[in-house]
Amino acid sequence: MIAWQLRLLGRRVLVLERGQVGGESSGVSFGSLRLQGQHEAELPLALSAQALWEGMEAALGESVEFVQHGHVHLALSDEHAARLEHNAEVARAHGMQVTLLGRAATLARWTFLGEAVRASSFSARDAVANPRLVAPAVARAARRLGAKIREGVELVASTHGGSGFTLHCRAADARDFVIEADVLVNAAGAWCGAPAAWFNETIPVFAAGPAELVTEPIPRFAEPVMHVVDGSVLFRQTARGNLVIGGHPRMKVDAETRRTRVPSDKILTNLSRLVSVAPHLGDYHLIRSWTGIEGYVEDMRPVLGPSATTPGLFHACAFSGHGLQLGPAAAQALAELIAHGATSLPIAPFGIGRFAAAAQAGTRMAEEFQDDLLQARS
Ligand SMILES: Cc1cc2nc3c(=O)[nH]c(=O)nc-3n(C[C@H](O)[C@H](O)[C@H](O)COP(=O)(O)OP(=O)(O)OC[C@H]3O[C@@H](n4cnc5c(N)ncnc54)[C@H](O)[C@@H]3O)c2cc1C
Repeated sequence: MIAWQLRLLGRRVLVLERGQVGGESSGVSFGSLRLQGQHEAELPLALSAQALWEGMEAALGESVEFVQHGHVHLALSDEHAARLEHNAEVARAHGMQVTLLGRAATLARWTFLGEAVRASSFSARDAVANPRLVAPAVARAARRLGAKIREGVELVASTHGGSGFTLHCRAADARDFVIEADVLVNAAGAWCGAPAAWFNETIPVFAAGPAELVTEPIPRFAEPVMHVVDGSVLFRQTARGNLVIGGHPRMKVDAETRRTRVPSDKILTNLSRLVSVAPHLGDYHLIRSWTGIEGYVEDMRPVLGPSATTPGLFHACAFSGHGLQLGPAAAQALAELIAHGATSLPIAPFGIGRFAAAAQAGTRMAEEFQDDLLQARS
């Protein structure tokens, strides 16, 4: 997306991707373009992103199965209900329309929900897209405008000298070569800590994989995304009828192989949570599960903006579980910053400077955060 936006602003761009475009996070997500419940600091950027999503298929010239049927946050406890009220207040302060519903109104509107549900909030502007279509479609759009995308090429090291960056690359056939560039964007997802470290910067990023399950196609019953507000379970029905199911806990990633997998106990946990919210959904067959590798930082906000140490270096990574939604606006902001030296989009809260204290202390990300992230954090 950054390459596409940079081409629109007339910059020459080369994307180095050691795997395939969309092979890690961007091609495998749940597909939710959720506004409600986003952190207040993120809402202005998220709203800009949603406007871009609303025009995405026209801009790409192809379908990415963008559907705007809204998003329902569900409360299963008083604490959850208080979160819905707080989130609605924040959202309304940013001009969003969020409807709060009590128990009876929730169960009357979405009759497949069970007695465990206490309250809900509905945001009509929230949407979904199919990430399996989005990632290659965006790559095609960038290529059509002249961006070069080299898959199977890893950036293994980089230095910055008087004239810019020297990039040491390794192709899939183990051939090494060097490229010079005046600007470098660290968009390495869960692995952005390494490029940052080459330039004496710290991004305390942690790689983890959320689990996703999908059923056989089933009769149409739900339009919006249904999402317990603590993130323990969420589900949506695709146009074809399949039910996509996500939720905690997340899985660890093997840093050596860069692989993660969904264990069978995790599948059973998520299915039992699903049935506790929507009892009749236990009657259908799962056809597959999948996961992907996402980068998280402790405040669950992306790292987006210029380097604090190196002119010409920019970071756009660690999207902490909601980078599909934020992606278009994040890319536009970064492209403007690179091409024009400024952006009107609100990215100040996402600067790498917020990790300076951790860098000075030389601390690694708190173990409690990692446990919390793997078990329960949304
Ligand atoms: C299972 C799952 C469900 C999700 N659900 C949602 C959702 O519903 N809504 C939402 O908004 N977000 C969701 N997300 C998060 C979202 O997908 C990500 O935030 C977003 O895709 C991140 O994009 P990215 O480009 O930063 O990272 P990625 O898409 O991971 O891309 C980074 C790329 O960098 C490459 N790379 C890394 N290091 C190097 C190197 N040294 N040299 C060359 N290439 C390198 C990697 O191979 C990778 O392909 C989900 C994520 C997952 C995994």
